[in-house]
Amino acid sequence: MINLKDLEYKELEEFLLAMGEKKFRAAQIFKWLHLGVTSFDEMTDISKTLREKLREVSFISTLEIEEKYVSSIDGTVKYLFRLPDGNCIESVVMRYHHGLTICISSQIGCRMGCRFCASTIGGLYRSLTAGEILDQVIFAEKDINERISNIVLMGIGEPLDNYDNVVKFLHNINNEKGKNIGYRHITLSTCGIVPGIYALAEEDLPITLTISLHAPNDEIRNRIMPVSHKYSIDELIKACSVYAERTKRRISFEYSLIRGVNDSLENADELAALIKPLHAHVNLIPVNKVEERDFRKGSKAEIEAFQNRLVRRGVNATVRRELGSDIAASCGQLRKRAAGIEDKGK
Ligand code: SAH
Repeated sequence: MINLKDLEYKELEEFLLAMGEKKFRAAQIFKWLHLGVTSFDEMTDISKTLREKLREVSFISTLEIEEKYVSSIDGTVKYLFRLPDGNCIESVVMRYHHGLTICISSQIGCRMGCRFCASTIGGLYRSLTAGEILDQVIFAEKDINERISNIVLMGIGEPLDNYDNVVKFLHNINNEKGKNIGYRHITLSTCGIVPGIYALAEEDLPITLTISLHAPNDEIRNRIMPVSHKYSIDELIKACSVYAERTKRRISFEYSLIRGVNDSLENADELAALIKPLHAHVNLIPVNKVEERDFRKGSKAEIEAFQNRLVRRGVNATVRRELGSDIAASCGQLRKRAAGIEDKGK
């Protein structure tokens, strides 16, 4: 049985042709899938016979809302979605003045092992299919009943560790017959899988790439991000400049400030020297407390001092506004609780 949402538009056309159907049926079915129908009977402009034929060879994936929290401070909505196989993933919808942005997951768990991150505790269970990634947008939009205009692949999982499905998802979400979300409204965040960055540069997708850097040198990065044992900062920065050159898109960096680990003014100087040539923007994130970890954020004054130092060195840096602080909106924590995952690595 095939999940129709795992097919790219072209593949859906071929699938229907192989069934002896006309190509234009793909447009009708694609539209219904993206509107969030959960049964073939809701596809009212498709004949009963074709609906029956489809039911025999394919299915429409769904997500159940297991838990939902709405921030009373800023309207952020956090979902814990349950997949049909029992696994849970998290998605967050944030309200900005330019519209709704959804932060979605790309995997169930994660195998990157970043020391400060809740999503990686318990490791990787499996990657999401293209349709399962898409379903988060479809079912959140259906629930809220407002158009979601921006997407960030910054939830649970490492998108470049699920490369093919993520690219398939990007093609489908951008398709004008479905949600039609422009590539410039999509951001992909990676911990820095260098070959994935080179591959993405060749896809001709003008999405925004953001790198979870979190350290100004290999010595610090090795301590908090195991991926850095595989790809050095030099290799990573080189891949970033090739990406920027090839796509003509500016890269940005995420930098979680962890007290006493990566937040000294010397660290800021080193960071500025490293990324200034890329003219990149830095998003500073005061590290979120994860129960099992003893990383702490610095004071407001320390965070500002770090930011000011970067700005003085000519690097554009902002401190990320905390949204949904009353509903634990940062990812990984709800799923961990729902799945009863314990930290074996500690
Ligand atoms: N795997 C991808 C995307 C998921 S994580 C990546 O690494 O970019 C989304 C962002 O949140 C990353 O920048 C990640 O490093 C950061 N993050 C994870 N745990 C955090 C925490 N406890 N505090 C602050 N930022 C955190």
